[in-house]
Amino acid sequence: MNASLIPAVFLDRDGTLIEEVDYLNDPDRVKLIPGAGEALKALSATGFRLVLVTNQSGVARGLFTVETLDSIHERLTELLHEAGASLDGIYTCNHHPDFGAPCSCRKPEPGLLLQAAEDLQLDLKRSWMIGDAARDLEAGRRAGTESLLVRTGKGHILEQTWRRMGQSTDCVIDSLAAAPSAIESSLKHRRS
Ligand SMILES: [Mg+2]
Repeated sequence: MNASLIPAVFLDRDGTLIEEVDYLNDPDRVKLIPGAGEALKALSATGFRLVLVTNQSGVARGLFTVETLDSIHERLTELLHEAGASLDGIYTCNHHPDFGAPCSCRKPEPGLLLQAAEDLQLDLKRSWMIGDAARDLEAGRRAGTESLLVRTGKGHILEQTWRRMGQSTDCVIDSLAAAPSAIESSLKHRRS
């Protein structure tokens, strides 16, 4: 363990941090999932860096511009500040293989997490990825983080699939609001 590296919580955006809206292109429609701001504040107080990692292929598809995406993230930042929270980084993949060359950052690729780890001196092995889709958790797995699936957004559908397949749902939490306690109890469990 490199003590100079800092653990992070990587967060998916749509359906995890904010309410899911397909190809969100309007800052006025940004709405935090209940309890998300407080959860981020708590995670930050525990010593985690907070990094948003989001696929935004709407840019590649020509559905909205990078400027619109920036304005959405400014609104998100404002809403988080109101809850006493802030993000340490926002990393977006604006590509889509059908609308340009394949990239190494579109989740489930781990590129966004790896770039953030390099930029912010993060310890991926002590980090977590939280999302509502299989590709979020897969990106976390490939980057070497632990992961949590939220039931918000599309997460409950994936949970049902896992149950049908007899897969473990140990990493499933109701929403981002439950993340601080889930991570704390996992760390305690590991220490004991
Ligand atoms: Mg999502």
